Amino acid sequence: MRKTTMKVAVLLVLTVIWLSGCKRAPKEAHRTEFLMDTTITITAYGSQSEQAVEAAFAEMRRLADLMNANDSNSEVALINKNAGLKPVRVSPETFKLLEMSLEYSELSNGAFDVTVRPLVELWGIGKKDKYVPSEDEIQQVLKLVDYRKIILDPQKRTVFLSVPGMGIDLGGVAKGYAADQAKEVLKKYKVNSALIGAGGNIWAMGVRPDGQKWRIGIRHPRPETGNQLMAVLPCQDVTVVTSGDYERYFVRDGMRYHHIFDPRTGRPANKLISATVVGTNSAEADILSTALFVLGAEQGQTLIGKLEHAGAVLMTPESQVFKAGSHLSELELVYEEGKTSDARR
Ligand code: ADP
Ligand code: MG
Repeated sequence: MRKTTMKVAVLLVLTVIWLSGCKRAPKEAHRTEFLMDTTITITAYGSQSEQAVEAAFAEMRRLADLMNANDSNSEVALINKNAGLKPVRVSPETFKLLEMSLEYSELSNGAFDVTVRPLVELWGIGKKDKYVPSEDEIQQVLKLVDYRKIILDPQKRTVFLSVPGMGIDLGGVAKGYAADQAKEVLKKYKVNSALIGAGGNIWAMGVRPDGQKWRIGIRHPRPETGNQLMAVLPCQDVTVVTSGDYERYFVRDGMRYHHIFDPRTGRPANKLISATVVGTNSAEADILSTALFVLGAEQGQTLIGKLEHAGAVLMTPESQVFKAGSHLSELELVYEEGKTSDARR
């Protein structure tokens, strides 16, 4: 073969390889683990997707160990052990999450309150067998539930629970924070298309590999009434977080008891059966979804109205759907009002 023919042939081969390289879909990595008392799944696309997913899970495991109130070695357990005794120095992230929690406790008039730990223990949803405490027991425990009795010292970075018996529980915010951190880790590995699902917390990063937006379904809280989904939201670079009464609950004497408590009554909140928040910070959206679930449709809509960057989709026990705020322009409501039978079950 002459030299020029050779060159042309090499060029052709290179071009073909390059073209096929362009067409190839980005490498997918997918993994599921049970962490923070829930199933966590990440699907990520990119040339380093495998390492990215590995590192994201390592980060979430680290956070789970730090913030799990049930693990006696965690930072949160240490804070709780020292309630009424002494301030405890904590990591910057636990401190930051507590500061954020207190800010939203103020904003939600105490509907979100991380000092619910004594209530969580009293009711023992999913742990004790269908246990319903007496009003007396509830009132005793409620004396310990008050976010204003947490004393934070930003200089020393310490947390002090000022009354013996108090306790904090980051169950309403930690999964959101973990999802935010997982997203940051994925970004470091140049992943810009991924779906992170941590219980009710979803991060939709970028768009799907086919260029379309992610489609996030919001589960109908009472699928037995006929609909599997209540809405679908096309998503790009947003987080979608749902709090519901249908995952951790029991029914006794026809009443449903679940794991989101109204700190004013000490009982499971009963104004909504599902609260979804869409935003760009999953820790914040996690806090908000819990807060809205407690506040109910009217006060919930008012709260979301004060925040420019978040949106909410709420469902009442009477199956009424309410929406408020931003990110919802493409929301497709599957559920049509009046079509579903009464959801009070
Ligand atoms: P999930 O954990 O199912 O995603 P949430 O984000 O709404 O649901 O958080 C519920 C958890 O938060 C409970 O398991 C409990 O640990 C804690 N919690 C319950 N009620 C409140 C409340 N009013 N404020 C703050 N945290 C709460
Ligand atoms: Mg929450």
